[in-house]
Amino acid sequence: MKSSTPDINLIINCGSSSLKYKVFESGTENCLTGGLVERIGAPDAVITHKACNGNPLDRISGEVKNHSAAISMVLERILGAGGFSKKQLKAVGHRVVHGGKYSEPVVVNDEVKQYLKEVTFELAPLHNPFNFEGIAAAEKNLPGVPNVAVFDTAFHQTIPDFAYMYALPYRYYTKHLVRKYGFHGTSHQYVSLRASEMLKKPLSKTKLVTCHLGNGASLAAVGSGKCEDTSMGYTPLEGVMMGTRCGDVDPAAVLHLMMCEELSMHDMDTVLNKQSGLVGVSGISNDLRDIIKAAEDGNERAALAFKMYCYRIKKYIGAYITLLNGADAVVFTAGVGENSPPVRAEVLKNLENIGIITDPVLNGAMISGREGEISSASSPVKVFVIATNEELMISRLADKMT
Ligand code: ADP
Repeated sequence: MKSSTPDINLIINCGSSSLKYKVFESGTENCLTGGLVERIGAPDAVITHKACNGNPLDRISGEVKNHSAAISMVLERILGAGGFSKKQLKAVGHRVVHGGKYSEPVVVNDEVKQYLKEVTFELAPLHNPFNFEGIAAAEKNLPGVPNVAVFDTAFHQTIPDFAYMYALPYRYYTKHLVRKYGFHGTSHQYVSLRASEMLKKPLSKTKLVTCHLGNGASLAAVGSGKCEDTSMGYTPLEGVMMGTRCGDVDPAAVLHLMMCEELSMHDMDTVLNKQSGLVGVSGISNDLRDIIKAAEDGNERAALAFKMYCYRIKKYIGAYITLLNGADAVVFTAGVGENSPPVRAEVLKNLENIGIITDPVLNGAMISGREGEISSASSPVKVFVIATNEELMISRLADKMT
């Protein structure tokens, strides 16, 4: 019989000024509640407490001084009006962007905290310090409840050295840890598991190319459940073209532009990360919906940006099918992957000879969080659309670790 007071896991994703959270019933797939605190540190912060389908339950505005204050407000929502007791909290799962050497989630202790601060703050200065804030805030507000750190990079730690090394002088790897790390690992792992269920094949016997196409975008080659390569690199800038990020580019072109435009390192970083990709090429928007609409209205640069975006994904799919020596399925996930039939159609066009045959009707109907197959019955390689669920994956991993 199901307990009336089940254990729960609180899952936290801390950004510089925001905190997203979800609560799951431990040991199950049941999402119980969730929400978002925005503008932490500002006098007009907003906390939106939501049901799991996204419907707002409670919305208040006011000063939220720091992440610790944000967590205590979240706990008031969950443990007070939410009707759960502190005793039910089994674990707090934290999304941490960079795990450095860690290939698995870890239960946070002093040694882990020291490693995260000493090594990963330098590797991911824009993300890890804030993820760390979340851990510190949870420790302060919930003494005795284990904190589990789940890293975006961990799933990619199985990538072999010949794939993760850059062909730079070796000393930069040993001295500065410059290598491919990869990101979105929790999402690639979640959709790989789901795809093996949909294929009705054990994960240990599957070959998958997973395409996480959101604001940031990355692909992974997953053989026997292990990541063999991924498109993002030392940072989330490498790989396919994204909303505002350039993806792969000749480093010599970057040096040339810095010289002739007299750009500082900081300026160039802004160009590559914030002013490139779809918005940079189209001059219109980083949102594919705007790009597609403008292209339909005859805007040539929008049409070019759309083609470039899809072409680059297609190239990685081809490369990854080659290095896996075939694939059982290609998986599309995240905002664009789950919702954009035009992108999937363009990416998958003319791939019959490598075994991918798309069904246009199924592709057109697969939107708004729907999950299923969009390849034709005769397609040797299946194509799936799967709604990613990183928080659920973190909850499962937190269960495994506690
Ligand atoms: P994040 O990487 O921030 O988690 P998401 O996975 O939610 O992002 O993806 C957000 C992106 O999805 C946005 O850039 C948006 O352009 C894109 N997107 C959402 N719906 C559609 C759609 N119907 N067609 C094309 N792109 C879409």
